[in-house]
Amino acid sequence: MSLYKASIIGGGVIGGGWAARFLLNGWNVSVYDPDPEAERKIAEVLTNARRSLPSLYDKPLPAEGALTFHGSIADAVSDATWIQESVPERLDLKHKIYAQIQEHAPGKAILGSSTSGFKPSELQQGASHAEQILVAHPFNPVYLLPLVELVPSAITPTTITGRAIEILSSIGMKPLHVRKEIDAHIADRLLEAVWREGLWLIKDDVATTEEIDDAIRYGFGLRWAQMGLFETYRIAGGEAGMKHFIGQFGPCLQWPWTKLMDVPELTETLIEKIAAQSDAQSGAMSIRELEQLRDDNLVGMMRALKRTASGAGGTINQHEASLPEPEPRELPITVSRQVPQSWTDYNGHMNEANYVQASSQATDRFMELIGADAAYVASGRSYFTAETHIRHLAEVNAGEHISITTQVLSGEGKKMRLFQSLFRTDGELAATCEMLLLHMNLKTRSTSLPARKVALRLNVYANTHADMLMPHGAGRYVGQKTGRI
Ligand code: NAD
Repeated sequence: MSLYKASIIGGGVIGGGWAARFLLNGWNVSVYDPDPEAERKIAEVLTNARRSLPSLYDKPLPAEGALTFHGSIADAVSDATWIQESVPERLDLKHKIYAQIQEHAPGKAILGSSTSGFKPSELQQGASHAEQILVAHPFNPVYLLPLVELVPSAITPTTITGRAIEILSSIGMKPLHVRKEIDAHIADRLLEAVWREGLWLIKDDVATTEEIDDAIRYGFGLRWAQMGLFETYRIAGGEAGMKHFIGQFGPCLQWPWTKLMDVPELTETLIEKIAAQSDAQSGAMSIRELEQLRDDNLVGMMRALKRTASGAGGTINQHEASLPEPEPRELPITVSRQVPQSWTDYNGHMNEANYVQASSQATDRFMELIGADAAYVASGRSYFTAETHIRHLAEVNAGEHISITTQVLSGEGKKMRLFQSLFRTDGELAATCEMLLLHMNLKTRSTSLPARKVALRLNVYANTHADMLMPHGAGRYVGQKTGRI
């Protein structure tokens, strides 16, 4: 049972996302929202979060906390460690709600506001415990995107800001400490500039909603996701770098290409035009279908960023490193994870290529267990896979939790023969993968003996596992009848 409780006040688009992020990271979550539909809406957000968030990680997330709904703010906030306010963007409403929260919440609880635009000093006006309130501005979908702009005011104690950073990091977020409070923080200022230009382009009949989206997603949107604005422009300056880039393109900012601060008047005609174009572009899919498409794409991109620890990928790696190892069993569990959507194919189940991927992940983990870890590889030694044999025994679907155990069949000299057993959520054996690996010298690219420390640890596993039964299917080759080993 989790020791921590997050209270979600306002469970709409953003509050629902917060509820999912806390719950799936092992926190208990209590919700207060007067909307009679809030429970159904949060359940739908949770379904989407469960099929996507665990897919980012190669380790299991903590066991889910308990979710409760309450009829009053007083009930919802009792015993809370973190309170997240996500009610509509009206200052008077937020003030009214803070008065009720602060009457009943523990004095030590942190009160974060999801506000997109208000400054923390505005939120704190008239509060009984102003120092408790700060801005924690997330991005939709809150359960997947790590960024949270954390904005304290001049009166916020540094201890509270520090604790907020610690808590948000522990649920896999990337808190960006905004040191100087301004309207709309940092990210929404940038987004608003692009949004304003988009409105002008539509109003002036230069582009439709779809053409504007194309201009982003086929080009600079991909660059922004992994390097942001300035690192991208540094590269755009070529070898001459940033100074050259600004010298070359900076004067254009004076022309101007953009409409600067002018905002087109949002007349009925302009709003109708945007809505009609958006319906034509995306009306064929429901919001939940669009959310799932968005989530699958985000998971795929963020997993790619994980490999190089770029941007959001770096945050996932850090969070993953802090997650506990799965409970040890007789055989080491070398993989325990959820199957992401991107691992399934046109048959609706896990694609064969991903069995190799999962087995390879199991091998990497086993290498770590015997000391052939990242530092060992960096020292110029590693194992290469020379042969693999996979048997597919039962279907595995997206969203299922799989675990792999690794048995050492032999481990002497340069050779290491592993037998990986992949189990489904229900415990059924879904596949086995037998692999022969050779120890290599990475400088000469030829086989070599492992370091003594690695050889000894491998030997311990090999000796222990030698007492176990030879697993069924070990040593099989393609086309062989079952029954023969
Ligand atoms: P929303 O309309 O989807 O949700 C607001 C929820 O608050 C609704 O479920 C509503 O029933 C509930 N509510 C209304 N009065 C309440 C009250 N008195 N007590 C408790 N709950 C009440 O809005 P949203 O998009 O989730 O925005 C909420 C906050 O998050 C705003 O401050 C907004 O600026 C901020 N935000 C929004 C986004 C976004 O992309 N939508 C992104 C970041 C931050």
